[in-house]
Amino acid sequence: MDTQTREDLLKLFQSKLNQAMRLYLETCSRCGTCTEACHVYASTGQVKHIAAYRHEIVRRIYKKYFKGQGKLASALGEPKELTELALEELYEAAYSCTGCRRCMVYCPHGIDTQMLMSIAKLLLVGANEEPEILSMLADSSIEKGKSLDLFKEGFLTAIKNLESQVVEKWQVEAGQNPIPMDQEGADLLYVALAGAHSIIPAAAIFNAAGENWTLSFFEAVNFGAFVGDPSRTKLILDRIINEAVRLKVKEVCICECGTAFRVMKQLSGKQPFKVSSITEVHARYLREGRIRLDKEKFKDPVTYHDPCQIARNAGVIDEPRYILQNLTHDFREMTDDVRYNWCCGGGGGLVALGEDTLDFRMKSAKVKVDQVQKTGAKILATACENCHTQLSNLNDHYQMGMNVQFLSSMIAEALVQ
Ligand code: SF4
Ligand code: SF4
Repeated sequence: MDTQTREDLLKLFQSKLNQAMRLYLETCSRCGTCTEACHVYASTGQVKHIAAYRHEIVRRIYKKYFKGQGKLASALGEPKELTELALEELYEAAYSCTGCRRCMVYCPHGIDTQMLMSIAKLLLVGANEEPEILSMLADSSIEKGKSLDLFKEGFLTAIKNLESQVVEKWQVEAGQNPIPMDQEGADLLYVALAGAHSIIPAAAIFNAAGENWTLSFFEAVNFGAFVGDPSRTKLILDRIINEAVRLKVKEVCICECGTAFRVMKQLSGKQPFKVSSITEVHARYLREGRIRLDKEKFKDPVTYHDPCQIARNAGVIDEPRYILQNLTHDFREMTDDVRYNWCCGGGGGLVALGEDTLDFRMKSAKVKVDQVQKTGAKILATACENCHTQLSNLNDHYQMGMNVQFLSSMIAEALVQ
């Protein structure tokens, strides 16, 4: 690595060094409490997948360039030079971590591995060594934001084609648009993912609840966050913020996508609208009596996988349970305390990397498979696209025989007319 590249990368490292990050870098006592906390280590037994081991690579580079040698306890490892080899180690650490933060719940100092891995990801972006596909997807989301007019007509036609399927689930009044688009003054802007499965059930439920809603032109997923690039994360986020402000909505509702929800909730700053996950909105409709569900619709026992970015990392825990109480007579918890729930093994961009990560994802999530199977449930519900894909892959790979469902699809199926 030439001197200029190293200097540029160290500037990026420096840009991440706020007070919290310095604390995470300087307080690990190597107590080992996080060892068993990571699903990757618990499933594979490989030392390199212990949370503290991941940090150590970042910490040693920090020690070399940002803290004079000897200022940290010598037990915290030798200073490490930032080289091509170090970048390879950072890649392996960052892209085998799903950012689930289960280790953080166990750590006595609350050290946030996801934050430390965000340094690793940013250095990889700076060195052009991030996963190419994630980078391309982030760029194409940004392009879409810049040239809305180019794809607007095509998108409107595609949405029109979905209307009859929405009406099949919930009949609307004569003249009412089953999927309203671009409605200034709507109360709620719904931000979906690409794909009918993210739009049809949601639209039926909004219509059943009598919501004054409108569908976003943009997809919710934020590939800038997956790739760990703050600038691109913000540009992707801004497309939705600008649309919400333009339409003067009071609420932005993010579809079943954990990262999209956490990023919008935690990084959008002070705005004239509130941010909700679709699960929170559905729970509210039930509480307010705006929708009713047929509890006999699903006869098999149901368990629920809490998406890490929605539950542990954003606090949406009671709402899915309230929905499930209204949806089934036989709901079975996976864990006594949701904060300690195992990650599905697909977050942090791993599912988006597709086949390239499939073998790793299957091996690293064995503890999740065991946890699900222990419930004896037949339906495995979740509220995140990534989790749904990963759980479906696990279901096939381990021949679990489960019916993997989106929570919102189950609600739409059980709507009482
Ligand atoms: S954030 Fe999750 S995947 Fe990453 S080290 Fe911690 S427990 Fe493991
Ligand atoms: S639990 Fe926290 S302090 Fe202990 S080794 Fe892990 S990261 Fe370090």
